[in-house]
Amino acid sequence: MAKVHAWGAAGAGKPLAPITIDRREPGARDVAIEILFCGVCHSDIHQARDEWSGATFPMVPGHEIVGRVVRVGAAASKLRVGDLAGVGCMVDSCRACAPCGDGLEQFCAAGPAFTYNSTEMDRRTPTFGGYSTQIVVDERYALRIPDGLDPAGAAPLLCAGITTYAPLREWGCKPGDRVGVVGLGGLGHMAVKLAASMGAAVTVLSTSGGKEADAARLGATDFAVTRDGSAFTRLAGKLDLVIDTVSAAHDYNAYLGLLRPRGTMVVLGVPTQPTPVHAFSLIGGNRRLAGSLIGGIAQTQEMLDHCAAHGIVSDVEIIPIQQINEAYERVLQSDVRYRFVIDLASLRG
Ligand code: NAP
Ligand code: ZN
Ligand code: ZN
Repeated sequence: MAKVHAWGAAGAGKPLAPITIDRREPGARDVAIEILFCGVCHSDIHQARDEWSGATFPMVPGHEIVGRVVRVGAAASKLRVGDLAGVGCMVDSCRACAPCGDGLEQFCAAGPAFTYNSTEMDRRTPTFGGYSTQIVVDERYALRIPDGLDPAGAAPLLCAGITTYAPLREWGCKPGDRVGVVGLGGLGHMAVKLAASMGAAVTVLSTSGGKEADAARLGATDFAVTRDGSAFTRLAGKLDLVIDTVSAAHDYNAYLGLLRPRGTMVVLGVPTQPTPVHAFSLIGGNRRLAGSLIGGIAQTQEMLDHCAAHGIVSDVEIIPIQQINEAYERVLQSDVRYRFVIDLASLRG
């Protein structure tokens, strides 16, 4: 066991503060990673505030991890000491069930070991995330960060990147498609970049009129402010795919109305309250309402390689860990352009 510096929440809604956690000695198939950068996902806030219930404390959030491999187990072969490696939302799964076999470890029948607010597969040892200086993980769940990707900008790819890449692939995003991205935050700005890289024409639907120029710079060709109801008239029936990243309550019916017949709206954001959906919103036009949860390990690697090929990283605002509580407040105000990333040098002293 190694004692590792971290920042965590002692209880639901408590401010994050320094704590010390244990990391295991690397086993035969493990890699030990010195964490360089960790992105701040809105899911970190939901969980640190126990908005999804069942949270366990102390909690060290963080599942957008990029670092340097410092030790490898005797039987590990995927990564070498000195490599840049990533860890996303999962650190283990049963590896034997049908979803694990299909590369959908996030749906492991036994329940995956999530990177934090979860347990290892022994179902006893708590997992702690990337707001820390080091992590030890089976190399099967570690990703190779391709050459040429900026390490800080690559960190958010491990959650925001794969979470938006997976539904674009699932629903066959291709050149000429019209894709709507709802909410221009961490997930939303990655959805814009990734959909544009697949050849889609992207419309950003935002509550923040001030983000229009950014949307264009990120690759969108159209922008609509959703507080202004006219957007829903102008775009009615126009979109092939809607990627909904909004973290707060909003009306799914209004966005379903933007789909062409047989178009699909994919829910990624997690408002804390259920949202009523009228049957006519789906029946009219055989529209589809779908969801998507992060993505499997092989597809995460595919996404990283796609990003390297297309020169895509996240737009980041780098902060020291000491600013994490203020960063949470700014995320809640939709005031982040477009992902906070913690520089863990600030925790190493
Ligand atoms: P974020 O950076 O806070 O972005 C969310 C965006 O939603 C905001 O920037 C804002 O964009 C918009 N928004 C916020 N409040 C709104 C409101 N009241 N009405 C309408 N729009 C609003 O968060 P994120 O990290 O991208 O995460 C977004 C959501 O996805 C969270 O709920 C998170 O837990 C969830 N998530 C899901 C998965 C998954 O696997 N499905 C993975 C990661 C995260 P505008 O300013 O443009 O309106
Ligand atoms: Zn996340
Ligand atoms: Zn499994």
